[in-house]
Amino acid sequence: MKISIGLLLGMALAAMTTATACVDTEEATTPPVRVIIEDDAGAPMDATVDMGDVGPGPRLQHIRIDSLEVPAGRSEWVELDLPRDVLSLTVIAQGAPRVAYAIERLEGPEGQVLVAEHPAGVVIDNTVRQYARFPGPFMSPNRSATASAGLAGLLAPNNPNVAITPGLWRFGVGSMGNIARLTSEVSVDIWIKRGPPPTRGRLDLHFHFTGAHGWTAANTPMDEEFNQAIERMRSFYNEIGIDLGAFTYNDVPSRFREVDEGLDPLEQESSLEDLFALGQYDTGVNMFFVETIGDFSFGGTIGGIAGGTPGPSLLPGTKRSGVVVATGLDPNPESIGHIMGHETGHFLGLYHTQEFVREITDQIDDTESGFDNADNLMFPTVTPEEAGLSDGQAWVLHRSPVIISEDAE
Ligand SMILES: [Zn+2]
Repeated sequence: MKISIGLLLGMALAAMTTATACVDTEEATTPPVRVIIEDDAGAPMDATVDMGDVGPGPRLQHIRIDSLEVPAGRSEWVELDLPRDVLSLTVIAQGAPRVAYAIERLEGPEGQVLVAEHPAGVVIDNTVRQYARFPGPFMSPNRSATASAGLAGLLAPNNPNVAITPGLWRFGVGSMGNIARLTSEVSVDIWIKRGPPPTRGRLDLHFHFTGAHGWTAANTPMDEEFNQAIERMRSFYNEIGIDLGAFTYNDVPSRFREVDEGLDPLEQESSLEDLFALGQYDTGVNMFFVETIGDFSFGGTIGGIAGGTPGPSLLPGTKRSGVVVATGLDPNPESIGHIMGHETGHFLGLYHTQEFVREITDQIDDTESGFDNADNLMFPTVTPEEAGLSDGQAWVLHRSPVIISEDAE
């Protein structure tokens, strides 16, 4: 089958919002919430620190802050004392459904500024303002772009040019209504991934079927085309040391065969968000198969959407708890497998090598940008042809808390 150029792979639910006015640039000055993470014992002060139950892997710690105030649209700083063997930090904030949130500040013990409202040396032009509701975080050294209604997320590092080091880090959450910043409140889930630099890992997948493409939980385990699609996805991830692990097969209601694209983050109802909320697994990635997503837009058709970059890692039941794959546009199993791999890449923290806005590329040095380089898995259109991931992209994926790292042999 020929390369299908028109099939777009949506980055996340956050993009393409109109600019919002931000007149209040005052920094938050209230004392920070402190969360101390030590090697053996936690000493929580204002947060619930869950040290014993460390999630799906032995080197992952979960911290939950049940309530963090965001007065006038900017939270106080939350401080984290990160351990000696820290690999990455993931922060997910959840709040009111019609308020947009972002992790918009992240600073390290040596004064490193990874995410900022006004990153140094960056000019925020109107293109970026139209592309990102929180343009400063989007243009920061560690891009923060899961900035959406009800939910924000950040993986750091999400490119090899920045690092999360041991010591006292701090972050802040922003909240925005349709017009301006507003007072809100969020819960915060923090994942701290630890251990030696990983090169091998496992990714569990939870498949959810609407009946699109004739696929159901009962028939897909033995379905030749479905398994061909899995093999296509597996080829991308095996190449960088990630094995596809446990699979589960689930049916979801057939009314979700056609879903909207959920692009307006402040819209009240979204069938895509309702579908994502059916992602009830707290390991791996929930993956939903539908017939179509949205209407024709951007001169093409949407082949898939991820719940964020990163998505709400290991958090079931949110409006972003998964990735969706459309089977109706290019039913070639090679293309479907490509979309499965691509959207999972977003969910784990990878951006497009080249956005449709010309000047916006990923922050990974060893990927080719430009529209002539369609052979990267994270190029924004699907191909059944050869494609792959770079070493820099692999470096990021291995830092996702969703990937269960394994010791090198
Ligand atoms: Zn994409």
